[in-house]
Amino acid sequence: MTGKPRLASIIEALPSTVPFVGPEAQERQLGFNFKARIGANENVFGPSPKAIRAMQNAVPDVWQYGDPENYDLKNALAAHHGIAPENIMVGEGIDGLLGYVARMMIEPGSAVITSKGAYPTFNYHVAASGGNLLTVPYRQDREDLESLIAMARSENSKLIYFANPDNPMGTWWSADELNSVISTLPDDVLLCLDEAYIELAPENTAPPVDTDRPNVLRFRTFSKAYGMAGGRVGYVMGEAQMIKNFDKIRNHFGMCRVSQVGALAALQDQDYLAQVISQVNQSRNRIKDIAEKNNLSAIDSAANFVAIDCGRDGDFAMSLLSELTSQGIFIRMPGVAPQNRCIRVSVCTEEDLDLFEEALPVALEKLRRNSA
Ligand SMILES: *Cc1c(COP(=O)(O)O)cnc(C)c1O
Repeated sequence: MTGKPRLASIIEALPSTVPFVGPEAQERQLGFNFKARIGANENVFGPSPKAIRAMQNAVPDVWQYGDPENYDLKNALAAHHGIAPENIMVGEGIDGLLGYVARMMIEPGSAVITSKGAYPTFNYHVAASGGNLLTVPYRQDREDLESLIAMARSENSKLIYFANPDNPMGTWWSADELNSVISTLPDDVLLCLDEAYIELAPENTAPPVDTDRPNVLRFRTFSKAYGMAGGRVGYVMGEAQMIKNFDKIRNHFGMCRVSQVGALAALQDQDYLAQVISQVNQSRNRIKDIAEKNNLSAIDSAANFVAIDCGRDGDFAMSLLSELTSQGIFIRMPGVAPQNRCIRVSVCTEEDLDLFEEALPVALEKLRRNSA
């Protein structure tokens, strides 16, 4: 053979990496299974039993494609949010929908603005479109929307990514704070507001959805509070014309019909959601207690995880993470300074937290001895 198929030049230049090494891949490398899977912000409490039943009942029909218009789910979501179905697009998780936004908005060389150390999956999509990713540091462990907008102006960018609550820190802005900053957003700059954890945040964190505003898209998911990460169901809300643009490029048959049915049933069981929210609250409090008992401080979180400030640098937090890994505890940590002084622990069962509570002082003691 002479030669080989040539990739598009933008893709050719990219590394083949993953934003997060999955716990299964880590287990294969380590040669043992984790005792506590508390690193991926999955919702260990799982979906509503009604959603599970609905999905079980839907399994025999899996020979059928899912409804490409997601009609039932979209209409239920519209009623839930008090907006029209035209203001909603359902897709393969927020991750999938962010990929569509990148394809819709970015040309090679386009400046795209995000926070330094923010949720990284968006950045992958930006790279694949040839966008030029520019970052703004966090301010006091919060993403800094004012500075993101200022940079969009100064760099002539038309696309901003911002998560509220934030991952990996769990910090958040109130709806009032957000609204006043969003009012300064230039008309031609699109703000992608990732609200993956919004159901778990205090009331008055989410501004009302303004469907007259083409320059804000709101991203939601069934992966976190609704406990269906493996089902891959997300949705985006916004002005009708902006939403319709997704039809130009989306994978119309990308949704699994079992997941469509499950998400609908999960949405309809708000009592169960309320129960999960209270379990998440309890678990967050206990993670905070465990941190404090070990002379570490927990950062207040509006999400289903807690960032624990280890009080030292990124190397120290990384060593702590490795020690916990070797004890069978799967957690993650922020990737860049100064947030990488923290480890990030997902909310979980009491049994998981018992294991964490046992492992943490052992790991800290080991590090102390190693550095003595
Ligand atoms: C977990 C997470 C996502 C992923 O959502 P999916 O709907 O599962 O793709 C997106 N954004 C943030 C900030 C997250 O933490």
